[in-house]
Amino acid sequence: MLYKRSSQLFADAEKVIPGGVNSPVRAFKGVGGTPIFVKSAKGAYLYDEDGNQLIDYINSWGPMILGHAFQPVIDAITERAKLGTSFGMPTELETKIAELAVSMVPNIDKIRFVNSGTEACMSAIRLARGFTGRDKIIKFAGCYHGHSDSFLIQAGSGLSTFGTPNSPGVTQGTAKDTLLANYNDIENVKALFEANKNEIAAIIIEPVAGNMGCIPPIKGFLEDLRQVCSDNNTLLIFDEVMTGFRLAKGGAQELYNIQADIVCFGKVIGGGLPVGAFAAKNEIMNYLAPIGPVYQAGTLSGNPLAMAAGLAMLEALNQDTEIFKRLDEKTAYLENGIRKVLSNNNVKFTVNRVGSMISVHFDKGAVVDFKTAKNGDNETFKKFFHGLLNQGVYIAPSAYETWFITDALTYKDLDYTIDAIDRVSKEL
Ligand code: PMP
Repeated sequence: MLYKRSSQLFADAEKVIPGGVNSPVRAFKGVGGTPIFVKSAKGAYLYDEDGNQLIDYINSWGPMILGHAFQPVIDAITERAKLGTSFGMPTELETKIAELAVSMVPNIDKIRFVNSGTEACMSAIRLARGFTGRDKIIKFAGCYHGHSDSFLIQAGSGLSTFGTPNSPGVTQGTAKDTLLANYNDIENVKALFEANKNEIAAIIIEPVAGNMGCIPPIKGFLEDLRQVCSDNNTLLIFDEVMTGFRLAKGGAQELYNIQADIVCFGKVIGGGLPVGAFAAKNEIMNYLAPIGPVYQAGTLSGNPLAMAAGLAMLEALNQDTEIFKRLDEKTAYLENGIRKVLSNNNVKFTVNRVGSMISVHFDKGAVVDFKTAKNGDNETFKKFFHGLLNQGVYIAPSAYETWFITDALTYKDLDYTIDAIDRVSKEL
């Protein structure tokens, strides 16, 4: 496939945008080459500026769970736009999507909408600190909770791709309040509690990690975290920016039957428009301004176009009783196909999957935390990525990212992908 126009557009972009992109992983730094510029997308396919058609396994990093340009979402946005695009005043639409989200997700009474997953997580820890009167938080190595200062300590996603453990610009003062633990290691968490008695406001976790590849929680880990939090009057924050409205209607809380104290959302909840949200029981949410002391605000929060898109998306997911089963079955089919062809071609690999989140690691050992995720052979990944791209299959341009499966994928698309992986793995 040719990417002549994309290369030219990237060269133009580099002159006026740092690194030519508005979010680092897009730049293909982890895999080499120049990023592909998208012209349009429909269903499971991307159409780039050179006229190539690609099967999309990223789907805007999650939101396009029902496919690109999903008609009810497009209709909702266009109809709503005619009525005005922003007011900075309340609309009925905000209550409607809030009611629906609260009815779909277990264990929450109120939800506040923001503009990104970063804002959701940032606001959630401020709320947790305000509520508990404590400063410290625990995060897990390799988990990514957006780019706000407290979280840029051994974060996954782009920071792993670029080998940046921490970011300049984050002050020592902020960094010292973020305690770091190993994913799936409860003893490590308990030791941190022991060393910081009555100081930890919250544990924040991706209940299924998706920013160091896909890493499921080992059996009992989330239950143990719940227990440790309850024993220490610490809040458990589930960052469900990836898992929310993807693994089940009620996200990871429902899938694993664990109750978090605060839940963060992004991606799917906005149907592809800039939306994040955080939610909890009344007792905690009533701590927020204007009724409580913890301040949090936004000019474009609850934006009518974004709310219309999110509402159309959640309604579609809520009405389709088979959707999460179907996604699980499609992804299981893909997983089995990948396992078969990689084994037949004697490639050393590990595949991790929970529902419609899946990742392929080029190492034979179990991938259970950040350390084991880093064992993957990046040179093999690069060949795999570019080989698939040449076959018209677009996966994330980094070994540390999860693939997000969309319901728009047909079994024919999945078979094509498995055959492409077969061809590419002969060259690895
Ligand atoms: N939390 C998780 C688990 C994420 O995966 C991401 C983004 N990939 C974020 C938070 C941040 O969301 P956003 O990029 O919308 O700020």
